[in-house]
Amino acid sequence: MSKIYNFGAGPCILPEPVLKKASQAVINWNGTGLSILEISHRSPDFEAVVQKTENLVRELLQVPDTYSVLFLQGGASTQFSMVPLNFLQGKQRASYLDTGVFAQKAIKEARLFGEVEIVDSSRDKAYNYIPCRFEPAYGSAYLHLTSNNTIEGTEMFSFPKTAIPLVCDMSSDIFSRKISVCDFELIYAGAQKNLGPAGMTLVIAKNTYLDSVKHAVPSMSDYRVYRNNLSMFNTPPVFSIYVAMLNLEWLKSIGGVDEIEQVNIAKSTLLYAEIDRNTMFEGTADPEHRSRMNITFKARDLEIESAFFKMASGHGMVGISGYRSVGGFRVSLYNALPIEAVEALVELMKVFEKQELRAVPLVSKSIIK
Ligand code: PMP
Repeated sequence: MSKIYNFGAGPCILPEPVLKKASQAVINWNGTGLSILEISHRSPDFEAVVQKTENLVRELLQVPDTYSVLFLQGGASTQFSMVPLNFLQGKQRASYLDTGVFAQKAIKEARLFGEVEIVDSSRDKAYNYIPCRFEPAYGSAYLHLTSNNTIEGTEMFSFPKTAIPLVCDMSSDIFSRKISVCDFELIYAGAQKNLGPAGMTLVIAKNTYLDSVKHAVPSMSDYRVYRNNLSMFNTPPVFSIYVAMLNLEWLKSIGGVDEIEQVNIAKSTLLYAEIDRNTMFEGTADPEHRSRMNITFKARDLEIESAFFKMASGHGMVGISGYRSVGGFRVSLYNALPIEAVEALVELMKVFEKQELRAVPLVSKSIIK
């Protein structure tokens, strides 16, 4: 089979050694003669997997002991309601920064529980930037942020310093770069980008923040229930946690978050440079807030767009179409994507430009921009 480059936005590419180990474990896990899909989540062997996954999360992100690391289900979307269910009830309001489609979804859910103050929004420019001058509303239960806007291709590179608890949706950039966990009261992330396969949601939360919840919360939505049961109040997503463990082992083996951050900078810089240079394409996010994970851009016109889609798919490049409501291109450069894939895409963009210019010559890029 010819080479496939997976630029999908999630579920996304996972490292080949991880896929190999995972597929072996589906047949015979650890020489037990049982599949990882068949084992009891209460078995000591699987408890060790959960513990190891937690330890790796702690080590790779330098999570302090004063924080809990929890594995839940329901995806990041469940966190949109679980956060206000735990922290907004009985409080006056919560502040939200509106930076994109997923922030909007979080806002919609929070409104079911209390007053929501949108402290700023980049909706005026189709969410192509991150608003930087905002203050959380006085007395807010928390300020909710989205560190990487997967659909729009923007990323927050600095976080506000405020006395209001910070809650952050890090679904699409966690483990891609260094973060300071202490800056946040609660971080959540769906697994299916840089953590592992879909099915598990990671929550990292400050214990004192969890203990500040005084009202009754249904067990499956109560963070403390997960904390008190090693994330096994009910049957956890066994396979997803196991593959996340393998993936975090892989990340550690290549040098951890510090190392991958440099690789991610190199990959995204390479692609953005080509988008800026190439007369056929134009980036859509404000250069200051361009995401290193999800690179969004468009073609000069729809004809060029469909011609490039065709050419890219003929070269085994999959997952490059923009989100359904946005269109254009979205190329995701998650941790497991090797730089060679970006080099191949950049090369193809160059060849495409030459080919198009031969057909319809252009005077300069300024004609388009
Ligand atoms: N937040 C962000 C930033 C996302 O990228 C996504 C989807 N990938 C979600 C939330 C929703 O995640 P899920 O599909 O796991 O519910």
